[in-house]
Amino acid sequence: MGNRRMYQPRGKVLGGSGSINAMIYTRGVASDYDEWEALGNKGWGFKDLLPIFKRGQNQQRGGSEFHGEGGPLSVGDPRQVNKMCHVFADAGEEIGIPKNDDFNADGQEGVGVFQVTQEGGQRCSPSKAYLQPVRSRPNLTVITKALASKIIIEDGRAVGVVYRQGKQEHRIMAAKEVVLSAGAINSPQLLMLSGIGPKEELSKHGIPLAHELPGVGKNLQDHLDVILIEKSSQKESYGFSWQFGLKALMAPFEYMKSKSGLLASNAAEAGGFAKTDPSLDKPDVQFHFTPSWLRNHGLAIPEFGHCYSLHVCLLRPKSRGEITLKDSNPKSKAKIRFNYLEHPDDVTGLIGAVKLAKKLLAAKAFDAYREKSVHPGPEVDSDAKLEQFIRHHAETIYHPVGTCKMGNDALAVVDDQLRVHGVQGLRVVDASIMPTLIGGNTNGPTMVIAGKAADMMLSTEVVSEEAKATA
Ligand SMILES: Cc1cc2nc3c(=O)[nH]c(=O)nc-3n(C[C@H](O)[C@H](O)[C@H](O)COP(=O)(O)OP(=O)(O)OC[C@H]3O[C@@H](n4cnc5c(N)ncnc54)[C@H](O)[C@@H]3O)c2cc1C
Repeated sequence: MGNRRMYQPRGKVLGGSGSINAMIYTRGVASDYDEWEALGNKGWGFKDLLPIFKRGQNQQRGGSEFHGEGGPLSVGDPRQVNKMCHVFADAGEEIGIPKNDDFNADGQEGVGVFQVTQEGGQRCSPSKAYLQPVRSRPNLTVITKALASKIIIEDGRAVGVVYRQGKQEHRIMAAKEVVLSAGAINSPQLLMLSGIGPKEELSKHGIPLAHELPGVGKNLQDHLDVILIEKSSQKESYGFSWQFGLKALMAPFEYMKSKSGLLASNAAEAGGFAKTDPSLDKPDVQFHFTPSWLRNHGLAIPEFGHCYSLHVCLLRPKSRGEITLKDSNPKSKAKIRFNYLEHPDDVTGLIGAVKLAKKLLAAKAFDAYREKSVHPGPEVDSDAKLEQFIRHHAETIYHPVGTCKMGNDALAVVDDQLRVHGVQGLRVVDASIMPTLIGGNTNGPTMVIAGKAADMMLSTEVVSEEAKATA
């Protein structure tokens, strides 16, 4: 990756990264979950998970074979869709990728506008969907501005958690079990800080071993994403011009009045799933189309004028990275090494994906808008140059998973009940348990993991009838 230090944001807030994400609601395909089951994780096939996806959902279009109504998570069509999104879908269709208005139904392949986790034009984060409605329950205490620093393990059992709030250290003891949900970067960090992980890693930092589990932090996977940017001759996209400036000035008023307009946009409004090789049985790449200039995660200072950007990522990369510790201080950031493009198939796959994205951007539908390709420019015209471009510019599309993987092999961290192998009373419930990365955005799938974990806990005999009644 050109020896670059890369950006990896996470949401440090109630609702986690689901409170800062792009709100796109996709699930991957059935075979992603069937593969988890085939790896030995009973009850994790798509047929078992679909009812949980449906139960959690309040689908604005109404219920169906694939969608649920009346659940806590609002999913619907976005209120703001830039005209360029339709140009993008026309371009896809022109090169043979069908239009698709529901990526979470029977067929994932296609291009179109994404559904989003919004309610009435506002973000429906996991916190808004699941936590806010139950905040007043007497058996729930939410502690914020607190850093969990250790899980207390006694005689092979998790019995509590140490956390820091300001300069104070506190302990909470668990009556039944401890559930760790710190995400794919921080859950393995916290396990290691608690003495659960690879022996050599813990001894390197002087952390006493509570239970050896070599897979903690291993198996890190992510969607590596390449952005292609075209300069537009028209002013339809979100950009920097006097015309757009006026629209932007009006946007807060429009949003306050009707929760619509520019401020209701999730930025990556359209996209889709495609095959780089027609003989594949399922899409291997995902597009995110942003009708704007988007570079360096939106951190770069935008250029004057109008652009549109097409992201493309490979859905099932073979490279694996790892999370390790910088030191034994819970306040230190974990060390993140993705090893993106370590596997040669990921290099050829991503080159193929970028070629497909270039073909889409070159379709006639864009003729009336295309001024020039700015990123990459026309000089990037061979596979070797594309590889260099990818290595120097690709970035995350924010889907790290897999670092406390579920399974029974030597690197598995949790079993199919999400219980940490070899430790009593401790589960991990977040994106880190995915054995393999699903072919889509990871927020909805993480919430289905949480839904399934809730079922498991409720069916465990130690949970009282009273807790079942209020769950
Ligand atoms: C910028 C961005 C855009 C994204 N866009 C999309 C999208 O459009 N659609 C989609 O489906 N997915 C998207 N994702 C991915 C999706 O949001 C994540 O996959 C999902 O939120 C993962 O959930 P999680 O519970 O595993 O981890 P997180 O959501 O990261 O939650 C972990 C929580 O644990 C807390 N925590 C961590 N360590 C500690 C500690 N030591 N003590 C106390 N608390 C701790 C964190 O503060 C956080 O609240 C995006 C992610 C990002 C960052």
